[in-house]
Amino acid sequence: MRIVQKFGGSSVKSLELIQAIAERVVRTASAGHEVVVVVSAMGDATDHLLDLASQVDGQSSPDNLDFLLATGEMTSAALMAMAINRLGRSARAVMGSQAGILTDGHFSEARILAVRPTTVESWLGEGIIPVVTGFQGISGEGRLTTLGRGGSDLTAIALASALKADACEIYSDVPGVFTADPRIVADARALSQLSYDEMMELASQGAQVLQTRAVLYARQSGVAVQARSTFDEHEPGTRIDEKQTSRAPRWVTAVALDTHLTKIGLVGVPDRPGVAALALDRLAQEGINIDLVFQALSHDDLRADIALTVADRDRERAMAVSQETLRALGGRSLLVDGDIAKISAVGAGVRNHPGVAAAMFRALADAGINIQMIGTSEIKISCIIARSDAERALNHVHQVFELNDSQG
Ligand code: ASP
Ligand code: MG
Repeated sequence: MRIVQKFGGSSVKSLELIQAIAERVVRTASAGHEVVVVVSAMGDATDHLLDLASQVDGQSSPDNLDFLLATGEMTSAALMAMAINRLGRSARAVMGSQAGILTDGHFSEARILAVRPTTVESWLGEGIIPVVTGFQGISGEGRLTTLGRGGSDLTAIALASALKADACEIYSDVPGVFTADPRIVADARALSQLSYDEMMELASQGAQVLQTRAVLYARQSGVAVQARSTFDEHEPGTRIDEKQTSRAPRWVTAVALDTHLTKIGLVGVPDRPGVAALALDRLAQEGINIDLVFQALSHDDLRADIALTVADRDRERAMAVSQETLRALGGRSLLVDGDIAKISAVGAGVRNHPGVAAAMFRALADAGINIQMIGTSEIKISCIIARSDAERALNHVHQVFELNDSQG
């Protein structure tokens, strides 16, 4: 078998862990498999590098920043290759560019345009274990690029696809994808299987097991991903593939919480065609993603309120843009509320069960939790609630949809 194994930051945060992984890789290779290793930076090395950069210049140019951030993965790849070598197996650390990860020139969020892993392929033929730096590629101009936070997942999946690997295993410190965040919901359990669509929704709702773009790439290229724990070799983890569901037809597969959102309200804007378009267009031009949007019914005086949510990291920019829009429209005031959370119920079953939304609203009502905004997709229902209700809401909804019982 040809296997791509990716190890996340927490899996390679110390030399002891790197050595333990090296031993496992060697065991797998000795059993006759071709192994390609992909690594993240050690622990929170990337955050540390970002911090260094901001101490030098708060406005570092994104190309130099990418160059700096890429060093995190170079360190871990080199150490991993050395650890494998020491065990008597030949291994070679290799940069994303040498592994043939070709991207566009969008620094910090580069897209993969093609993968040409001829070097990696020929090393495999010679019995050498390639250890590839995750998270980075090279642009058409020959510049080093990075693939967005969490981008080592994308490296692994793209390589698995190009190398026609038989398996793509993504190792982290949790044994797969859970029905809810187990740090908040004590009886949450690991799912054995999920569809790409379900994983996409969960990843974008803040479940941090896999990068959203990586799941999208897996879906497009048909790579089946196995999300596993580095620390529990015997747990099979969660398989993410195209199957809609082999499980008993549940309404909901998992519930997710996102507490890194801010609500911005444009209060008292004119209630006429084009107003919402203007408000959202300006944000889009700034590259700010809007999550949920809600327009309240007109007041007597033909004014309306528009509320939207953005990621916390976009808060300042979104406020500035919305303030301008408000002024241009002659609106009354800007409301900013960072004390919110989004709870989402996700499942392929949402599509076929019109009662899921009602059941979710009922569950929140029974817990005395007020719903501020609602959003839906084909397989997801999201509600914005107060941040202080978030943990209680997650536990309650998890229980109402019976996600803790064992028929996985
Ligand atoms: N080291 C990068 C990050 O922290 C990429 C990754 O870990 O996947 O985002
Ligand atoms: Mg990660």
